[in-house]
Amino acid sequence: MGFPPDVKTEAIVAAQRSCCVCHKFCAVNIECHHIIPEASGGANNFDNCIPLCFDCHADAEHYNPKHPKGNKYSSEELRMHRDGWYARVAASPATVTEQGSLEVDRAVFSKIRAILTDEGSMEFMRVHDFGGSFERSELDELKEFRRWSRLPASEFLNADLEILRSNLSEAIQDFLNNMAANTWPLERPNGGFSKISGEDERGGKLFYERRELLNTGSDAVYEAYSALIRTCRRRLAIN
Ligand SMILES: [Zn+2]
Repeated sequence: MGFPPDVKTEAIVAAQRSCCVCHKFCAVNIECHHIIPEASGGANNFDNCIPLCFDCHADAEHYNPKHPKGNKYSSEELRMHRDGWYARVAASPATVTEQGSLEVDRAVFSKIRAILTDEGSMEFMRVHDFGGSFERSELDELKEFRRWSRLPASEFLNADLEILRSNLSEAIQDFLNNMAANTWPLERPNGGFSKISGEDERGGKLFYERRELLNTGSDAVYEAYSALIRTCRRRLAIN
């Protein structure tokens, strides 16, 4: 039968329409997952419900114990993620006015500023047209950000800021995935350059599709970055 509408509404509001595991803002792309499956007697109530994004929902649902890869989410872990995220949403932005939390979030912000620089990767995301070639090292800051993003210490305590950080991380990952699938190394004496495939040179349909995909992706990264910086400056009173 699934969760009754009022249970879903209560859970989605408690999660602020963000995934309880990866914290990205989902808007309508959010689903309510049974922590204990209905088939195993899990109840259709608030306590057994966790709002998840499509990706995390698929990870929680489709783990195959016969072909174990990675580590399955246990019911206990999902409950911990859920309770931790609900608590953070409930406490924000009140906690951030407490000096301790403010200091933690300012430190996270400074780290983001140190990794993703205005004059480095972010300027590159803003101005580069991926129809042309580019130096692969231009992507180093983005890769560094993704590595750092996996650490718990990279998370903001304030839920609103954490949602924006998670959105930025997701935009960067999407961009890097598209980059890996659609560009090729370029033969140059000094090496380290990439461009969209030479097989479908300028003028080909595929070339324009790839160029559009990468340019749209880099715009999305820059927009997510700008939204985070603007909100942090306001909330944390920091440059
Ligand atoms: Zn998620």
